[in-house]
Amino acid sequence: MNTYSFSIPQDIIVGRGSFEKLPESAKKLGGKHALILSGPSLYKYGLVDRAINLLATVGIQADYFIDIEANPSVTTVEKATGTFLDCGADFLIALGGGSPMDVAKAVAVVAKYGGKITEYEGGGKVPGKVIPQIAIPTTAGTGSEVTAFSVITDHERDYKLTVFSYELLPEVAILDPELIMTTPASVAAACGIDAFIHAQEAYISLAASPFSEAMSEKAMELIGSSIRRFVANRKDVEAAENMMTGSLFAGIAFSFARLGNVHAMSHPISAYFDVPHGVANAVLLPVVVEFNALADHGKYLKIYNTISHIKRYEEEFSHPMLAGAIRSLLAEIGIPGSIMEAIHGVKGKEEVTPEDVEKVLPAMVADAMKSGNIAVNPRVTTAKDIENLYHQAL
Ligand SMILES: [Zn+2]
Repeated sequence: MNTYSFSIPQDIIVGRGSFEKLPESAKKLGGKHALILSGPSLYKYGLVDRAINLLATVGIQADYFIDIEANPSVTTVEKATGTFLDCGADFLIALGGGSPMDVAKAVAVVAKYGGKITEYEGGGKVPGKVIPQIAIPTTAGTGSEVTAFSVITDHERDYKLTVFSYELLPEVAILDPELIMTTPASVAAACGIDAFIHAQEAYISLAASPFSEAMSEKAMELIGSSIRRFVANRKDVEAAENMMTGSLFAGIAFSFARLGNVHAMSHPISAYFDVPHGVANAVLLPVVVEFNALADHGKYLKIYNTISHIKRYEEEFSHPMLAGAIRSLLAEIGIPGSIMEAIHGVKGKEEVTPEDVEKVLPAMVADAMKSGNIAVNPRVTTAKDIENLYHQAL
């Protein structure tokens, strides 16, 4: 077993109606003026105004920046930082899915220390305390509310860069299941499976510890038992609560144990072809699970039993059954079955051919190999392995 340590230095509030605790949390933080980072659809839905009104009840002023895209860019971080500095805010509220939370963490650094977010790429580059943040996820989920990572797309390099520092952790995370009940089914499926993959990759990671394993196991159990119901009906209260808590625990698990080949390989697919993060992960999961089977020491059966319709004992189980159960789950919740199918589902990418993908494949392999997640994948992985895995998933 690896030596391990953990601390979760955040206030985490979970439960229906917990959004109403925003003013209390903001006051506790000592904030006087918030910049809310969110997206256009949540704004239209009235959630940003609801936050502004809640903050007004305790005399906290709020401005907002909602021009945030999926896979947010370096330019978006620059614009949001400009708004933060111009409006005189002293803390940030990220209201939305992974994108606003990634942007909030990046703004929290750049607004304090200047420069461009690209200068903080990697680990250990953030000099110290950053601008305080409150994270309020509206998907289940990225787990970004409890992770020390900010992932930003650099279009100059077609590369998703990661900034890693425990300073990035939001001071407060508010998880209200009511906020995920308006998620479209396709987003619920993609985000839900991403959360499951966080738990699954962290579970079998070489950096897993008894603590992260406990978080992973509970996360897989909650998500596995509820993802079908939640995709079928987002207003299913129990399913929404389970998905939200599962996503939270998965986030905690991978913030300590990191991930694996799926996430290492999915970032280039998103960077080159704009495939949503959850979908890019999902199409890779079965082939990576098959690849990693050789390294398994009993965990595959546990994973299988969290998602399969039929629970099995050890003597009834063989490794190929896990990839089979994953493929059937993905089909049931409407996730594409291959990289090409995923790319064709992106607006403007309908004409992309396998040959187009082949052209950038060497660069994608190189980018995947740069990910720190390769180093903790349970089966030792070479660039040739990554290339084979891309071909299998294509
Ligand atoms: Zn993910």
